[in-house]
This record gives sequence, C-alpha cells and structure tokens, in this order.
Amino acid sequence: MTGRVLGVRFDAVTLHGAVERALALMAQGRSAYVCTPNPEIVWACRKNADLLAAIEGADMTLADGVGVVWACRRLGCPVPERVTGYDFFLALLERFSGRVYLLGGAPGVAREAAAVIGQRFPAVQVCGFHDGYFESDGPVLEQIRRAEPDLLAVCLGSPRQELFMARNRQALDGCLMAGLGGSLDVLSGRKRRAPAGWIRLRLEWLYRLIREPGRLGRMMCLPGFVLALLAQSVKKETGLK
Ligand code: UDP
Repeated sequence: MTGRVLGVRFDAVTLHGAVERALALMAQGRSAYVCTPNPEIVWACRKNADLLAAIEGADMTLADGVGVVWACRRLGCPVPERVTGYDFFLALLERFSGRVYLLGGAPGVAREAAAVIGQRFPAVQVCGFHDGYFESDGPVLEQIRRAEPDLLAVCLGSPRQELFMARNRQALDGCLMAGLGGSLDVLSGRKRRAPAGWIRLRLEWLYRLIREPGRLGRMMCLPGFVLALLAQSVKKETGLK
C-alpha cells in the first residue's frame, strides 16, 4: 500500500518489510533504488520538480521521520512505522551477504565506515568506497561499475543523492541503490545517533538540532510543512480539489 504526502509517495512498510523488499529487488538483479525522504525533503519537492520526479521513480520510498509518519496517519494512509535510512541500512547489512559499495561523506568517512562493516557484518564484502565530494559522475561511476556491487549506499545528502540515483539507474545495471543521508557519518563513529530514550520519545530531530545547530536553517520549513499538510487533509476530508 502507498500514500502521498504533499505529492510525495510513501510505501506502507515496516523496517522488516523494507528489508525483505530490498532483498527481493536485489535477487531480481535489475537496477533499482530506494529513497528515504524526511519532512524537509518532502517540502523541498514543492520547489524542486527534479527531486520530486527522482523520488517518484524510486522502487521503494521509506518514511524517514516522525513528521512523515504523522502526516501519513493524518491523511488516512498510515505507514506502520518510521523507517530511517540508517536503521534500514543496518538491518539490510544484517541479512545480506554480498558486495556493497559506499559512496559519500567527507574524505576518509567511507573508509572508516568500511572498516566498521568489516568487523560487524562479516558476511558483507565492501567492494569499494568513494567520498561524496566529486565534480562529475563519470569517473566515480566507472569505479563503481568495476567494483560490481550488489548494493550501493548513496550518502550524498539531499537532493544530491536522489538526483544521482535517478540519473544513473541505467548506468548501474544490476545494483540496488539506497539514498542514506548521513549514515556513513554515524557508522564510521564520526557522528552519534541520538540515545534510545530520545528516539523512543520521537525527539531524535531535537537531539540532532542540539548537536548540530547548523540544521536549524533547513528545519525552518517544518511549520510550513505542518500547515500545508493540514490544508491537504482538510481538502481531503471536505472533498475540495
Ligand atoms: N555529502 C556528500 N556530498 C555532498 C554533500 C553532502 O557526501 O556534496 C554528505 C555529507 O558529508 C554527509 C551526508 O552527505 O555525510 C549528509 O548528511 P546529513 O546529516 O545532512 O543527511 P541526513 O541524514 O539528515 O539526510
């Protein structure tokens, strides 16, 4: 089942269901990609048609944020739970035995994340990595193709990661790509995930804001997101176009 929040489609899947579907996509051996939009990304789609089209083209879209989960419930198309890119990545690495390529982060981050994967997930082979600060796709694509990954973690931040995946789907045949934001920063240990208590209280966004005050600018869209969402739900309830 799918629902739409301000035009962005979401799949109603649990973390477990998302991993099962990702494994099935990999078993099919065709190129596919997964997006993990949070409310800021949904909001950005209003002004960025290419971003919206990139997410529309995804094979699976996960509700990465309490705001998205709330919005889906409010619009009568509930998703069972929040599925963050990071949780999805770890749960997939637990179940998967194949080749993964890590793309993104500042120089050194992907290498450190690769070492952590090697220790924590012995069945997974990191077949290559590259930082996320490159000018043109060509040389990086060539390296990725030569490494022959089954899974490509695309951690370039939004909208760069979604546009990268949509643009290069054909070029990376037989590979599942997933846009995973800052996952390599956390996996490498350079950044900390919020403690479990904050996550349980649905306050991970606040924890990240306190740790990284620079995020405030991008979070200023949230009141607009809530208002637009309420307007969408009123229209839906009253049957207005
Ligand atoms: N990043 C990158 N290339 C860029 C811009 C960003 O590799 O051109 C990386 C950045 O270093 C960070 C990640 O993308 O590791 C974005 O992390 P952020 O915390 O903003 O993403 P979120 O988890 O909030 O989606």
